[in-house]
Amino acid sequence: MSETEVQARKVRKRISWREEQTMIRGMPRTQRLIVATKFVGVVLFAIGLEGVIQQNWLLAVAGIGTGIATLFAPIKVRVNACLACQSLLEKGQAICPKCGAPQM
Ligand SMILES: [Zn+2]
Repeated sequence: MSETEVQARKVRKRISWREEQTMIRGMPRTQRLIVATKFVGVVLFAIGLEGVIQQNWLLAVAGIGTGIATLFAPIKVRVNACLACQSLLEKGQAICPKCGAPQM
């Protein structure tokens, strides 16, 4: 085995390991993003309620509207897309066919 062959094998192994790490790290990041999006939705909804209290109807409609939209958007993403790579999934698929990440 030549020196370059060994080098090439090492590099390939490192890439696959790195990809695996990215996938593992990608999953909680997506879940964190969902939690963050929900938090933003709650904040926007609270701003909308504040608009109702202050009788600022533009603020109320904008806040509650975007708040509800933000709160329900991550649920749709969860059902239809992979947690790791966001590719579309068939209904009930437990493992992503694209990246192999298990769907929880
Ligand atoms: Zn995937």
